[in-house]
Amino acid sequence: MNVKAAVVEELGKPLEIRQLQLDEPQANEVQVRIVATGVCHTDAVVRDGWMPTRPPIVLGHEGAGVVEKVGAGVDHLRPGDHVVLSVNSCGTCRSCLSGHPAACVNIFAHNFAGSRIDGTTAYSYADGTPVKSHFFGQSSFSERVNASVRSVVKIPEDFPLELAGPLGCGIQTGAGAVLNVLRPGPGGTFVVFGAGAVGLSALLGAVASRVGTIIAVDVNDDRLALATELGATHVINGMNEDAVARVLDLTGGGVQTALDTTGNARVFRQMIDSLAMSGHAGALGAAAAGSEGVIDLPGALARGIRITWIVEGDAVPQLFIPELIALHRAGDFPFDRLIKTYAFDDINTAFADSESGEALKPVVLL
Ligand SMILES: [Zn+2]
Ligand SMILES: [Zn+2]
Repeated sequence: MNVKAAVVEELGKPLEIRQLQLDEPQANEVQVRIVATGVCHTDAVVRDGWMPTRPPIVLGHEGAGVVEKVGAGVDHLRPGDHVVLSVNSCGTCRSCLSGHPAACVNIFAHNFAGSRIDGTTAYSYADGTPVKSHFFGQSSFSERVNASVRSVVKIPEDFPLELAGPLGCGIQTGAGAVLNVLRPGPGGTFVVFGAGAVGLSALLGAVASRVGTIIAVDVNDDRLALATELGATHVINGMNEDAVARVLDLTGGGVQTALDTTGNARVFRQMIDSLAMSGHAGALGAAAAGSEGVIDLPGALARGIRITWIVEGDAVPQLFIPELIALHRAGDFPFDRLIKTYAFDDINTAFADSESGEALKPVVLL
């Protein structure tokens, strides 16, 4: 089958729109017609060669669409089902079996290798040259994909597919850090460092949890204004203010739960220094090499703090994404406020706007 797809042909270069051949769905795969797909920071870092994944490859890992065909061994999905595509995992390792597929021991092979486990790829050029596929089990920057079944999450048919894709990664990552891991309770205190798509999704998770004091720290006043609209009780511009002193002041001596979405060592240290006794901090930003040694170890012991590094919100996507949709329907999780849509042919503008901060969560429409 012929499909239009966006291909990384050279590291660090814009994606190229190409006509590719898509093969048939294999065992434990479903073929999905993609309606919309989010653009995530991880797409950009792979395009730019931060990971060992090499071109030519179709990226994209926040796909949303409609099942058209099911491969052998897939009994629980049918043509016509509406689905979100999320992180892939092996299903058989200790992490997967204990309900933590984002910590899958085989996460690289199932998400970043650029092929099926048997080494084949779903896409090829007209001359038969293979183009890598199965990025996060999907490679959703394409009109149609053959997705690994463990990436596939069935959603209600009346939920807009134009919104649903980012639930597969960015939104799940922020909201899951709060709802699945940090779990600040009603009336509790929470601070998020970084008010991008992931940070604001975390903030929305705290709002949905009826957390009493919700603080957002960023250096961009527009984002802080949006954080206030979405339910932050306080915002701090870290460029002009001493964020740690303000958080300690606002929380009466320290915050119970905190999340760093920036991966910046200085910000991470601010988060740790903002914690109350027995406070729980989460970290999910990719830190640069050389960021080691930023924790005050004696102080951390004296305060009995906890730090958890969190991947993909520690979620089981097939359980968590329907929960987020239910919260959205109840009016408690308005993540649609973070989304800006683009035509598929403008996918490189979507990448650029994400990098510049012009868009929080770009979604391209196919
Ligand atoms: Zn696994
Ligand atoms: Zn992502």
